[in-house]
Amino acid sequence: MEIHTVGGFSEVGKNMTVVKTGDDAIVIDAGVHLPAVIELQEEEEQYVAPTEKRLRSVGALPDDLILDKLGLRDKVRAILLGHAHLDHIGAIPYMGYRYKAPVVGTPFTIAVLKKIMEDNQIKIPNKIHSVKPNSSFTIRGKKRNYQAEFINITHSTIQTAMVALHTPEGVVLYSSDFKFDNNPIVGLPPNYDALKRIAKKGVKALIVNSLYSGDERKTPSEKIARALVEEVLLTVNNKKSAIFVSTFSSHIARLKSIVDFSKKLNREVYVIGRSMNKYISAANEIGMCPFRKDIQIGSYKKQVLSILKKVSKDRENSLVVCTGHQGEPGSILDRLARNKLPFQFKPNDNIIFSSKTIPVPISMANKEQMDKRLKKTGARLFDNVHVSGHCGREDIRDLLTLINPENIIPFHGSMQQLIPLVELAKEMGFRTGKECHLMQDGQRLKL
Ligand SMILES: [Zn+2]
Repeated sequence: MEIHTVGGFSEVGKNMTVVKTGDDAIVIDAGVHLPAVIELQEEEEQYVAPTEKRLRSVGALPDDLILDKLGLRDKVRAILLGHAHLDHIGAIPYMGYRYKAPVVGTPFTIAVLKKIMEDNQIKIPNKIHSVKPNSSFTIRGKKRNYQAEFINITHSTIQTAMVALHTPEGVVLYSSDFKFDNNPIVGLPPNYDALKRIAKKGVKALIVNSLYSGDERKTPSEKIARALVEEVLLTVNNKKSAIFVSTFSSHIARLKSIVDFSKKLNREVYVIGRSMNKYISAANEIGMCPFRKDIQIGSYKKQVLSILKKVSKDRENSLVVCTGHQGEPGSILDRLARNKLPFQFKPNDNIIFSSKTIPVPISMANKEQMDKRLKKTGARLFDNVHVSGHCGREDIRDLLTLINPENIIPFHGSMQQLIPLVELAKEMGFRTGKECHLMQDGQRLKL
């Protein structure tokens, strides 16, 4: 068995791993590098999808050209997707066509992928399959078949899966973004039984997320985030003022909490922004958007303008959920801050960030500039009304204890993120270079 680390082993983003076994290769995830994409973003209304060439030139796509050098491209029998975030699926519209292989993911992941392609007017020739969480897909190899199991796990978007690839040479468990959350608000809790069963069978290689492996914590449940949202919405004295909330468009559970408490305030809920519409529609299509009937969505320019004019006249009876929590240029909140939309913030209006600024220079700079503009209006800013969807060091320790794999391959980060995980593994008896393998993009590990 060989594991090829294509992307996400030298940076946070553009995740892509290839497992080669026998005459077959299986791709897991193909994402984009988000900071590079944010830099490319135009204003939402003039958005034009970038080309593959342009994305490659700024390093936004995983460098899968190495697969050609290794003669692996024609051996790829399936592309498996773990969850709906762009750093895991965003490269498929641009690179999928290069593989004669089906693309497989849970219904929400696939619905989001289809929306992205529709939105960018991109078509790929690959067959696309949805697999329910906690079920399997059969991959047809050259001489033998393989089972890919999509084990339900919790994260900041619904229907996230750990992917267990069963091969004659052993199980590869791809554990990318996750936390152990027994109260996820929307969707299923982690499937501990499946993880225990796989551990009993024996895991040859565990590819594991290192992003916050240096943070000594267990990441709290989404129910804590729900309580934080409740606290700000229901206890702050904001009766006559406008309320705007910004959060991750893909965070269906968080959106549900925001809508639930807005209803308690007897406010009309308007959700605006193109990406909000994309993820909410995808969730609704698969029957996982319990709040759809309680909101009005504005996606296109005309709808957004008309909603904001309405809200401007009826501030105390409205609540707006919008894009822009990272200060992304062209997002709704950014355009509001620049006075480019028909709504002006006044002193004591409330702007709630149910999010955390991603600690990369471009996001931090964008957010800081936007905050400065927003504060000038006299509005109140509530930052970090949020709980992460990513495992901390103690969640990872629990996973390593539960799975007890033969080999560990940390990913989802640069050295800064990978090394704390290597140290944790060492502390738990996995020797560096023997059982725990520190890899970079574009390398091969033979097991
Ligand atoms: Zn994610």
